[in-house]
This record gives sequence, C-alpha cells and structure tokens, in this order.
Amino acid sequence: PATNAALFARRQAAVARGVGQAHEIFVKNALNAEFWDVEGRRFIDFAGGIAVLNTGHLHPKVIEAVKAQLNLYTHTCFQVVAYEPYVEVCERLNAMAPGDFAKKSLLLTTGAEAVENAIKIARAYTKRPGVIAFTGGYHGRTNLTLGLTGKVVPYKVGFGPFPGEVFHALFPNPLHGVSVTDALNSVELIFKNDVEPERVAAFIVEPVQGEGGFYVAPPEFVSGLKTLANRYGILLIADEVQTGAGRTGTWFASEQWPVAPDLIATAKSLAGGFPLSGVVGRADVIDAPAAGGLGGTYAGSPVACAAALAVIQAFEDEKLLTRSQDMGALLVRALKDMATKIPAIGDVRGLGAMVAIELFENGDVHRPDAALTRKVVAEAARRGLVLLSCGTYGNVIRILVPLTASDALLEEGLAILADSFAAMA
Ligand code: PMP
Repeated sequence: PATNAALFARRQAAVARGVGQAHEIFVKNALNAEFWDVEGRRFIDFAGGIAVLNTGHLHPKVIEAVKAQLNLYTHTCFQVVAYEPYVEVCERLNAMAPGDFAKKSLLLTTGAEAVENAIKIARAYTKRPGVIAFTGGYHGRTNLTLGLTGKVVPYKVGFGPFPGEVFHALFPNPLHGVSVTDALNSVELIFKNDVEPERVAAFIVEPVQGEGGFYVAPPEFVSGLKTLANRYGILLIADEVQTGAGRTGTWFASEQWPVAPDLIATAKSLAGGFPLSGVVGRADVIDAPAAGGLGGTYAGSPVACAAALAVIQAFEDEKLLTRSQDMGALLVRALKDMATKIPAIGDVRGLGAMVAIELFENGDVHRPDAALTRKVVAEAARRGLVLLSCGTYGNVIRILVPLTASDALLEEGLAILADSFAAMA
C-alpha cells in the first residue's frame, strides 16, 4: 500500500520543485470538512483547498449535478456551440452582484484568468492602460496577475519582466502602521510620481486580502478609492477570488462595501471544487470588448457550470450565508478566548467566516513570528488538523473550513489548534 513518504519521494523526483506543497500528505478520499490520507489517517480540513470548498468536499447536490451533466455532454466550447448552464450561471451572478445598475458576466476557468479578463475589460472600456494594485495583494501566477501581485517571495522571484503600466499603492494596515489616510495618500503620490490619473483604467483591490494575510479593506478606504475613481473616471475592480461565494457572510464581500465595484472577479468556491471563474459587473463596461475579444477553450466548462448552479442552490437550501456569519462569530469568539491564554496570538480578525490569527513574539506587533507560525501549522497537521498560513510576514494562520462543517467539528479543530500551541511551550 502507498505511504505518504513513498509518494512524496516520487513527487520530489517527478514534479517541478516550483510547485509547493504545504503538507507532506497525500489524500485518499474526502467528505465535507474531513479527509483521509493514503495511510488511512483522518484529518480535519481547515484549508478547504484554499477557499474552494465553502460547500465542503463532495457536496451531495454538487456531485449529483455533475453526474447528471456527465451523461449529457462535457464540452462543446461555449464560443462554438453554447449551452444553458453557462447562461444560467451568468444570470445568477448578475442577480447576486451588488450595484444598482444593469449587469453582465462572462465565465473562465481560474482566478488569475478572471482577474486578467477584468483588467482587459477595464482597459477596453476606459481606453486607458494604467492599473493601480496594492501592497500585499495577491492576484495570481500569470504574467499580468503576477505584475499586479504585491508580494515578492515566493511568487515573483525570478519571473520578471512584468508588464508595464501597473503601479502599487499602499494597502491600509493599521496593525502594521499604514492608516487609511496613508493608503489614500499613496494613490495620490502615484498620480504625482508615476502616472497621470487620466491614464489609469482601474484600481484592483481585494475586500479582504487573502494570501496577503486576511487584512480587511476598511470601508473608509473603499469610499476614498471610489471618490478618486469618480473624480478621474477610473474603474473599481474587486478581486473576490478568495472572498467570494459566501466566505465572508454575504455572497460577495463587496456587498458589504459602502459603494459597489464596477467589476468583480470570482472563482474558487463558486463551483465547489470544479474549475470555474468569472467576471461580473456593469453591463456597459463588460460589453466594451468586441465579439471574439473574450473567451477561452475551456472557459465556463459545462461540468463546472452544473456544479456552480448546485453550489448556489445549496447556499439557498442550507442557508449557508447565515451559517457563514454564525461560523465567523463562533471562530472569532473561540480564537479571542485562545488569545487570552496564548500571548503569541496578537490579533484575531476576519469578515464572516474568513478568519485568521496573527502571531508575534510575545504578542509584540513589531516582531511577527513566522517561525512559530510554521511550527504550529506543522504540529497541528501531526495532530490531524490541516491549516494554511499566509501574510506578508508569514505569521498569519487562516481558517477556510467548509461552511457545511458542524460546530462539533469546528470545536474539535480548534482544540487541536490550542493543543498545538501548548505543545510549543
Ligand atoms: N486572486 C486572489 C484574491 C486569490 O486568492 C487567488 C488564488 N489564491 C487568485 C487571484 C488566483 O486564482 P487562481 O489560483 O485560481 O488562478
């Protein structure tokens, strides 16, 4: 029988080194918020495939919808011969996206593709080249999205040159000394130093930075950006690849913004484990590129569209948005309680069920503790809980557990986390 060690050795020999692996574990099978490895060990999954499993592994409705789709057709290429599930996913996205204006959508496959397409559309609409992204932001691994990404190690190292006309302003992060005013001033500095605002097509911002460390964009920051956007005719793009599909207590996190974004990039949990992404937003903006300008061979796969429709149905049937809010409250309460006993936990934060803790040496916010973060994550895995770290300083532990997980499972996972901290002493 296969062992994790034997498979890891084969992986090391056969798979590119550049493809990372957070845990030396190989899965055999999975269900909802648990999985079992090839050696038969059970794990609680607080990583959710990096925010892809808001409805859990093998949600019965998703699997049923996919099986039904497999009996009909699996691929025609939507640009050749179209199919209803694609249209229906767009209709659902249009209905759910915030903003008091007519909306349209298109579907793609990955988060990076959704972001790239949002930028292409913004440039086509504004006829301007410039894009302003933010420090600590993560937007993907393709060349343009790497250019937008505001975190060098490990994503950008060795991969330049990156595309021009991309500028980085400061993302507000009061915990690390960047106020909302600092952040908005840094945009104005870009207008002075780098590019005139009349050449900027869009701001792209995550409502909660994902890979960057689960820092929430404050509402005043979003309003400030919108004021600048209105003044200069710049579009506001929300990268909701990680925040979307119900993670933050609303379908899109930007529903909680004081102003609606012009475009939203969505992916990950949208199709419950199948590759599907999309751009949704203002119809006049989305329609700027001419016919043939957008698309992709696999974009909007019918199998993934069937899965997405089942995910959206599951959210309605199982009231998963309410669950996301309640789960977030439960997690924050438990982690704040943990923080009173564990000095290293210097911050507990989140939006809905997108929750994280940040670790510092003795809780001193000037001394981020990446080493402890790595050790706690590894210890938790040894004890049967799979976690992910993130953050500019590598000192954040994030929770992306399926919203379909029971409170009992959450509590079991949280107890393992507390035990893992205790084992560090
Ligand atoms: N944007 C954000 C905010 C993300 O979190 C990610 C993935 N972590 C991406 C874009 C890229 O998505 P993908 O890996 O599907 O290309």
